[in-house]
Amino acid sequence: MTTYPTYGRIDGPIILIGFGSIGKGTLPLIERHFDFDADKLVVIEPRSDAHTFLGQRKYRHVQEAVTRENYRELLGGLIEPGRGFVVNLSVDTSSLDLMRFCREQGVLYIDTVVEPWAGFYFDTEDNAARTNYALRQAVRDEKAAHPGGTTAVSCCGANPGMVSWFVKEALLTLARDTGRDVTVPQTRDGWAALMQGLGVKGVHIAERDTQARRVPRPRNVFVNTWSVEGFIAEGFQPAELGWGTHETWFPDNGHRHASGCQAGIWLERPGAITRVHTWCPTPGPQFGFLVTHNEAISISDYYTVGSGPAPEFRPTCHYAYHPCDDAVLSLHEMFGSGRQQEVHHILTEDEIVEGIDELGVLLYGHEKNALWFGSRLSNAETRDLAPYQNATGLQVTSAVLAGMVWALENPQAGIVEADEMDHARCLEVQLPYLGPVEAHYTDWTPLTDRWQHFPEDIDESDPWQFRNVLAT
Ligand code: NAD
Repeated sequence: MTTYPTYGRIDGPIILIGFGSIGKGTLPLIERHFDFDADKLVVIEPRSDAHTFLGQRKYRHVQEAVTRENYRELLGGLIEPGRGFVVNLSVDTSSLDLMRFCREQGVLYIDTVVEPWAGFYFDTEDNAARTNYALRQAVRDEKAAHPGGTTAVSCCGANPGMVSWFVKEALLTLARDTGRDVTVPQTRDGWAALMQGLGVKGVHIAERDTQARRVPRPRNVFVNTWSVEGFIAEGFQPAELGWGTHETWFPDNGHRHASGCQAGIWLERPGAITRVHTWCPTPGPQFGFLVTHNEAISISDYYTVGSGPAPEFRPTCHYAYHPCDDAVLSLHEMFGSGRQQEVHHILTEDEIVEGIDELGVLLYGHEKNALWFGSRLSNAETRDLAPYQNATGLQVTSAVLAGMVWALENPQAGIVEADEMDHARCLEVQLPYLGPVEAHYTDWTPLTDRWQHFPEDIDESDPWQFRNVLAT
């Protein structure tokens, strides 16, 4: 029988908000790795189908939606001030309001995205206000206004989350492989100086999900390997990226931000129909979608040397996401028809017959050209590792586990992002769940094998300009 390490005791209530694909996969990892009172574990989830699952395990289910109007009363009735953990794995709940409330009460908090209250994604008119830059900046402003205090871990899933730990591991790998000093930096400035010194120009969060089931996708059904609602919401946000100091060109539809850290820009176009050239080990060169993500801004911000709109060094950073093939078809159908499919389906570990989620960071522009570092977890291996989730889910839930362990060990760290956590400790907890974690160098650049018959607006003098990465 496999024995699993216990990482500590959680005194007081554990409150899981949201019991979808990620909530359901996180619960067994909490059971496996923490000592806690089962009668104090509560799941807040509006859907009734969670009831049987939780009832069989004798956990309490509060069948309600957390809203702007009820969150203080609802959570206030469940928590014990100064103890316990709120694990927010829902959609349509404000991460900022929930973390603020938890910190006021001295309760640990973790989430996997900066989520807004229901309505924000589609009812907000101003595209600049709909960006992840704006959502993240509000959390950073809260941190600046209220430094220290009870730990609240912001955005600790696979990406955002784990990939920030991969960037650090990739930098150390690159330092070692280029004969540099591999002393692990102890400060943000140290990490930024390491990236700058290595000549890294930018980072793709480069992902290829090849998980597939046997039956073809039915028309008018949005199929994905994680939250369909979450993916549609972020897919309709403007494309966004951290904007590096090596960029010499600026997109015609690009916008900078008037305030905040200035690390990112956004494009006047939905991310899920904005394609970029990128690279992953399995497919080699591929198209990814420039879907906005918190880590695109946080990584560019974290590795900035200097500050403001014109720092000495800043990497470009963005997501380059090839979701599972059924999700690509679903996006094609949705954007083509102009309406969202009413039926949503998340592929389960039991129906998936093949495929892996290959999720890593591609550090580019340095003397060895480009290095992909990441997890290549298959659904088959996932089924052996943990129940109730596919490979995509396990990459996320194991990061939640790592973030919870770190928070328990650092309960007074204030508001933190994954970039600001001890990446070695977090990966130590997470690695048993990630399948093969590998480093791959490639000589591919965005100028490799371009189609020859159609003139393109590219810059042949510098392969790693975003101008070349962006597909027209
Ligand atoms: P899901 O759609 O499967 O589940 C979300 C659950 O939240 C649903 O069961 C829904 O009923 C519930 N919910 C909706 N409104 C609620 C409310 N007001 N109060 C409480 N619960 C509510 O989504 P998922 O795949 O489990 O993802 C959960 C969250 O994790 C999403 O925000 C998603 O964007 C995020 N996520 C992050 C990463 C990452 O790597 N950082 C990866 C996957 C998912």
